[in-house]
Amino acid sequence: MDFSGWEKLSLLDYDNRISCTLFTAGCNFRCPFCHNGPLVLDPSKAPKIPWDDIMEYLKKRKNVLDAVCVSGGEPTLMPDLLDKLSDIKSLGYLIKLDTNGTRPEVVEIAVHQGLVDYVAMDIKDSFEKYPAITGTLNVDLDAIQKTIHFLMSGEVDYEFRTTLIAEYHTEKDMEEIGSYLQGAKRHFLQRYIDNQDCIAHGLHMVPYQKALVFQAILQKYIPEVSLRGYDR
Ligand code: SF4
Repeated sequence: MDFSGWEKLSLLDYDNRISCTLFTAGCNFRCPFCHNGPLVLDPSKAPKIPWDDIMEYLKKRKNVLDAVCVSGGEPTLMPDLLDKLSDIKSLGYLIKLDTNGTRPEVVEIAVHQGLVDYVAMDIKDSFEKYPAITGTLNVDLDAIQKTIHFLMSGEVDYEFRTTLIAEYHTEKDMEEIGSYLQGAKRHFLQRYIDNQDCIAHGLHMVPYQKALVFQAILQKYIPEVSLRGYDR
């Protein structure tokens, strides 16, 4: 399976690293705030970037880039993801994997095979709100909890992250998220930005002052809680 998008040079996707970000098409969720609507809703129409082109680029840019971020869509659904990660790793790059956490077995294998250096897992909301915020009726919460527990076991560096949406997130949700992530290493609260590719429109960001309240709630449970995208 081919990647369907790439940002050849990014300073934002892997903290303190210069990276290339690759995007897979397709996802098992339909989060209304998703920025990659076309890739998620109609993967059959997504572009296909030849793997050889990506590898050629990564070989040539080894003196410029530190890392490769693999994002989506949901990358763990890519049938040959592990082979692709292995090819990238053979070039000596750090690899960050973004995931919604629904395929713990893929994350675990990638980590055990030394194919990823950092995992960023979305925590969409409190568990009871997952069906609404993912636009998906039957969410496999057991799988999500399994990925959370695996990451918290500390075999790989990681972050949890939540994109804050005014229409969904409440202080009660933050208490619940904090209680089930108690002891986690770090959590980012991300500012939502509407764009033309979002699956739904008309949603709003959580204002800065409210995000600070959410941050304070999570800090009761998690030592490192930061706002992302709220720079003022
Ligand atoms: S935000 Fe992530 S998990 Fe949600 S639909 Fe988009 S790609 Fe899938």
